[in-house]
Amino acid sequence: MNPAGQLTALWRKAGLTSQRCLACDVCCRFASPTACFIPFFSRAEATECGVRSAECGVGEPEAASPQPGARPPVVPEGQWWRCPLRDATSQACTMYDRRPLDCRLYPFVLMFDETGRQVWLGADEACPFVCQQPPGGAVWQEAADEAAGLLDGPLANAIAAAPGIVSRFHDHVRPLRVLGNVTRRVCRSDLGLARLVPTCQEPLAPFFKARPTCLTGHAFPAIYLWADLLNLHWRVDADCLLVFAESDGVGFLMAPPLGTGDVTAALRAAADIMAAINGPRCGARAQEVDEALLPAFAAEGWQIGHRAQEYICDTASLVELRGRHWDGRRHDIRRFEKLHRAEWRPYTPADFPACVALLHRWQQERAAAHPDPLYRDQLAAAAFLHRRTLREAAELGLWGFVAELDAKEAGQDSTTTAATVSVVRAESGNRQSAIGNPVVAYTFGFPLADQATFADFIEVADLSYPGLAAWTFNRFCREVRDWPFLNLGPDSELPNLAAAKLACRPSRIVPTYVLNTPS
Ligand code: SF4
Ligand code: SF4
Repeated sequence: MNPAGQLTALWRKAGLTSQRCLACDVCCRFASPTACFIPFFSRAEATECGVRSAECGVGEPEAASPQPGARPPVVPEGQWWRCPLRDATSQACTMYDRRPLDCRLYPFVLMFDETGRQVWLGADEACPFVCQQPPGGAVWQEAADEAAGLLDGPLANAIAAAPGIVSRFHDHVRPLRVLGNVTRRVCRSDLGLARLVPTCQEPLAPFFKARPTCLTGHAFPAIYLWADLLNLHWRVDADCLLVFAESDGVGFLMAPPLGTGDVTAALRAAADIMAAINGPRCGARAQEVDEALLPAFAAEGWQIGHRAQEYICDTASLVELRGRHWDGRRHDIRRFEKLHRAEWRPYTPADFPACVALLHRWQQERAAAHPDPLYRDQLAAAAFLHRRTLREAAELGLWGFVAELDAKEAGQDSTTTAATVSVVRAESGNRQSAIGNPVVAYTFGFPLADQATFADFIEVADLSYPGLAAWTFNRFCREVRDWPFLNLGPDSELPNLAAAKLACRPSRIVPTYVLNTPS
């Protein structure tokens, strides 16, 4: 019997039979489309089960992406959301014999501790069977030992290859065993590192707040939200936080040492870590280095390799749009408001499916309009960033908003608009929000460490509504007008993006650098 089959047998032996599960209604359906225990499918498992999902990297334009797996979109069912493989009538799993490891394991769960230092085997107390088990009972201990042996042994490779199966810390999961081998490979405890997980945000906040920076790239969300494409790890050296990213065996610093400690000592430690990860393949690299830290890097022999920049605007001028420069922008906004009646409101997890559908359509339209391969690659990578932002916005404390068109009211204003809206509804019904109106834009941001600047992080507006992007951006600026400055982020070396940011008349353009050491 293979290890995954042994997990099924283990539960049967412990008394958790399929009859018992069929009489229970907890599994396979979820309270929210962003619920944390939606099952994780590795790319191979998604292919095996026929799950078509850009999030899993299967059957969609991003299929060639390096994403090793994901939690696929769930399907609305009354007040609930069900796994796409759950049969709506029988409520049974349509792929029971081929279900993913995550499902075979449940009610055991793989989970990081709060700081990402260890991977635990835990038991979810949401399962009635778990609640009935005395924690020290012999049957229970035997099941935990056997599962830990499989996960830390023959299944460890699969977990390390697709670590998305390890969920963040949950206080309703009873910790049972630390998985030493999986911890070493997923957290890189062999290098003294820990995994960067969302629950790190609070304990690591003092490092992110230590220097009053206006740079987006030095903020926790801007780093963490790349976790689908990069293995992110952290450690503290010389009172500085070092955040490493690793992809295809190459490691680099996502940001310069953060904090007020000894930067020189931290840089030496960082170089040692990167040497251990990279070997002779390449030297050390650090991204998002600001000008204040260039002398410290130069003293250690690091060389400037590339210059990027972030665009900082006066928020008030973007809210008020006074003067001739903004004639076109004001015209766009007025035109949109004349033709459409839109509702602007905070984002909620129930908006997730509608926003993801909007994202996919927006991406396809952008890719069709811009054949540049660099731009298309960045679009595909950005989709992972957007989806994780949409999934975890609440947990990370992001500010998010959506624009919905009131189709009925818009129809009263303009027959043209009514026709447009009805086409949108017919083409992609899943673009509607939980209350049934089409979501046509979303935007997210967060405050930066200098307490004067707000980051305008991501924004998508349906391109078929002229003026909507300008209207959405202006509404967002109004929401954050208490912050004197708005950071529009980097231009990703894309000329059209740079032109759009320059059109916002930045009051400052702040450079950041990539620095390297010789290999
Ligand atoms: S919650 Fe527990 S008992 Fe209920 S279906 Fe899931 S594993 Fe079975
Ligand atoms: S794959 Fe099957 S067992 Fe797993 S959540 Fe979906 S329906 Fe349930």
